[in-house]
Amino acid sequence: MRQPASVLVVGAGVAGLAAGGRLADSGYRVTVVDKARGVGGRLATRRIGAARLDHGAQFFTVRGAEMGALVEGWLARGVAREWCRGFRRPPDGNPRYVGATGMTDLAKDLAGGLDVALSTRVETLSPGDDEHGWVAHSDRGATFGADAVVLTPPVPQTLALVGTLCTPEARDALRAVSYTPTLALLAVLDEDPGIPPPGALQLTEGPLSWVADNRSKGISPVPAVTVHAGPRASAGWWELGSEATMAALLGAARPWIGSRDPLEAQLVRWRYAAPDVSHPDRCLVAVDTERPVVCAGDAFGEPRVEGALLSGLAAAGAVIQRLGPTR
Ligand SMILES: Cc1cc2nc3c(=O)[nH]c(=O)nc-3n(C[C@H](O)[C@H](O)[C@H](O)COP(=O)(O)OP(=O)(O)OC[C@H]3O[C@@H](n4cnc5c(N)ncnc54)[C@H](O)[C@@H]3O)c2cc1C
Repeated sequence: MRQPASVLVVGAGVAGLAAGGRLADSGYRVTVVDKARGVGGRLATRRIGAARLDHGAQFFTVRGAEMGALVEGWLARGVAREWCRGFRRPPDGNPRYVGATGMTDLAKDLAGGLDVALSTRVETLSPGDDEHGWVAHSDRGATFGADAVVLTPPVPQTLALVGTLCTPEARDALRAVSYTPTLALLAVLDEDPGIPPPGALQLTEGPLSWVADNRSKGISPVPAVTVHAGPRASAGWWELGSEATMAALLGAARPWIGSRDPLEAQLVRWRYAAPDVSHPDRCLVAVDTERPVVCAGDAFGEPRVEGALLSGLAAAGAVIQRLGPTR
């Protein structure tokens, strides 16, 4: 009996995991690879000693039915919970959800049952032979053959893989996408920062865009804050060098964390934090044959966690349409 077609998904963030899950449920042989040591991509939770801090996405919202159904399941199984209904006074009433013990919980749940190869950076993608439509090589010398490929890295990284394989139109469409950076400071404190309930502030003035207390949020047993600089300050402080960048973030966060130095502080650089120019469709079929290469992620359609999820599902749909049914 012929084996079902195989699909390689590059990236184990929300988009890649959603695509991989939908494809596996549809009967394809799916391998998801990610260069990082854990799943989640920009859904990222870090431990510093006893502290736990979300340093990428801080919460997620629900706009559409597909995300709504997924979240119902997560809430019922205790994977996610509602954090609050807004950060301003008065709150806007729209639920903000989080992973029960951190945002990576969501990715770990989506990855359940999938074949995921971590610490594996795909460095090249090239046309294969009759057996495999595509062959990918990793930095560790591994080779992956597949009938179709879904690429979910941030678009500049996707372009490096598919830029010479796709049409000039697809290349131009991918080149048009751009992102803003975010600098994040993770600081473990010896006392509560005193951020009022629900424990986070969305800031619209000054260099910072976000200050959150991960203890109030319910994921850290000890006081630990996540500070995000806005796009302009992040770009301006990016090249200062790590020490000066941390000092700038710490200085800007003083009104909320006080004058005492953190017990420990770490800097995270999200070069591709959020798309500022997106592709209008939920995915882009970069190589449109019966052995397709499809690009997805939060820069396709809508941004944020929900947009990434919908993009991954759309990419899976595009692959299924071209590979045909498995049963
Ligand atoms: C600081 C910050 C705050 C945010 N806040 C929110 C928020 O509050 N609410 C919200 O809804 N959204 C928020 N977001 C956005 C949200 O995190 C993203 O929209 C979403 O997680 C993107 O998912 P993705 O799968 O498209 O991409 P990613 O999560 O970036 O996944 C791409 C994956 O591809 C992998 N990869 C890249 N290149 C390769 C390669 N060559 N080989 C193998 N693997 C590779 C990466 O390691 C990564 O895991 C925030 C993002 C940041 C950075």
